[in-house]
Amino acid sequence: MALFGATGSIGGSTLQVIAEREAEFEIAALAAGRNVGALAELAARWRPRALGVGAAELIPHLRAELAARNVRPEPEIAAGAAGLRDLAAGLDYDVLLLATVGVPGLAAAEAALARGKTLALANKEALVAAGPILMRAAAQGGGTILPVDSEHSAIHQCLRAGRSGEVERLILTASGGPFLDWTEQQLRAATPADALRHPTWRMGRRITTDSATLMNKGFELIEACHLFALEESNVEVLIHPQSIVHSLVAYRDGSVMAQLGTADMRTPIQYALTYPAREATKREKLDLAAVARLEFRRADEGRLRALRLARQAWRAGGAAGAVLNAADEVAVEAFHAGQLSFLDISAVVEDVLGSWQHLKMDQLADAQAADAAARRAAQERVRARAERRGADGSAAAR
Ligand code: MG
Repeated sequence: MALFGATGSIGGSTLQVIAEREAEFEIAALAAGRNVGALAELAARWRPRALGVGAAELIPHLRAELAARNVRPEPEIAAGAAGLRDLAAGLDYDVLLLATVGVPGLAAAEAALARGKTLALANKEALVAAGPILMRAAAQGGGTILPVDSEHSAIHQCLRAGRSGEVERLILTASGGPFLDWTEQQLRAATPADALRHPTWRMGRRITTDSATLMNKGFELIEACHLFALEESNVEVLIHPQSIVHSLVAYRDGSVMAQLGTADMRTPIQYALTYPAREATKREKLDLAAVARLEFRRADEGRLRALRLARQAWRAGGAAGAVLNAADEVAVEAFHAGQLSFLDISAVVEDVLGSWQHLKMDQLADAQAADAAARRAAQERVRARAERRGADGSAAAR
C-alpha cells in the first residue's frame, strides 16, 4: 500500500493497523507535509521504496534526516502535489490510503483511480471539492473508492444488507460537537479553545472546528451523495452525541440497518484495507450493556447553517463544493487567528458561496481554480469583517 498523510492522526492509526497485520502488507510509499523528521522516522521503521514531502525545498532536510537514521538505500523522493500524483501514477501498489489535508492530494487520488487502484479515502476535501472528477476517474479507470470516514464506512457496511434500488435514505449521525447545547449567545462568544474540545473523537484542528460548526457533517453529506449516488434529499442528519452508531441506511420496507462500534478510527481504516474480508482484532470491543442507552435527537437544520450551505452547494453542483470547502478553510483559519468570531465562520462561507458564478467542473484544474479564487474571496470578506469589527470596537470605546 501507499500511505499519503503518514504523520497525521489517520496516518498514525493506519500504521497501527498495519503493524497488527505486517505479514499481509508492504508499505510502498509514505508521504507527509512538512514534518520531515517524523517521516524519516517512519521510513526507518517501514522501509518504503518512495517518500513524498510537501515541497521541494524540504528534500535536503529529509535526506539529512534519512542519513542520520541510516536509511539505505535512500528511497525515491517526490515533492509537492505533482510529486504525489507521479507516485500514485507510477508506483507498484494495490491500495492508496489518502489522508493528506487539503486539495494537494486530489491529483494523486485521480491518478490512482484512473489506474484502477483502490483508493481508501480519508481526505475530507477530495470528494467535496472534486467529486464529479474523482467519480468519473473511478468509473472510467475501474478504480474503487473505499471510504475511511467512520460515517461513510458505516453506510458502506449497511449497504451490504440490500440492493441500491431498495434504499430509501441514508442517515448520517453527528455527535453535534462541543456546542450541542450552547445557546446563540454563548456561541457568539465561543473561543478557538472551546471549539477544539470535541466530546468523542480526537482529530486535527480543521476537522474539529468543522465538527463544531457542523460543516464537517455538511461535507460528509456531499461526500455521501457522490459515493452512494444519491440526492441530498435522500440524506438525513441525526444527532447522536455518543458516536457509537456511526451511521444508518433506511430501506424501503421500513428496515433500518446501523453500524455500531467504539469511536476508534482503526476500525473503519482496517475495513477499507481488508475489504471485502473482515479480519479479527484484539482492540477494545463495543460493550452495549456498559453503554446502556443510545441517545438520538433531530438535527435542527433551520439553526444549523452549515448543513443548509452544504445542501445548497450539492444542488448547485459543478465547482460549488470546491468553493464551499475553500471558503470554510480560510474562515476556520481566520477564527483560530482571532480575526473572526465563531458564528462568522459560516457567515463568511455563506457570503462566498452565495456570490459564486463560475461553476464549471470538467477537470481537476477547474476544482483547483475554484479553490484558489474562493480562497481569495473569503480572505477579502475576512478582512472586511475584521475592519468592521475594529470600527465597531473603537466606536464603542468612544
Ligand atoms: Mg466523520
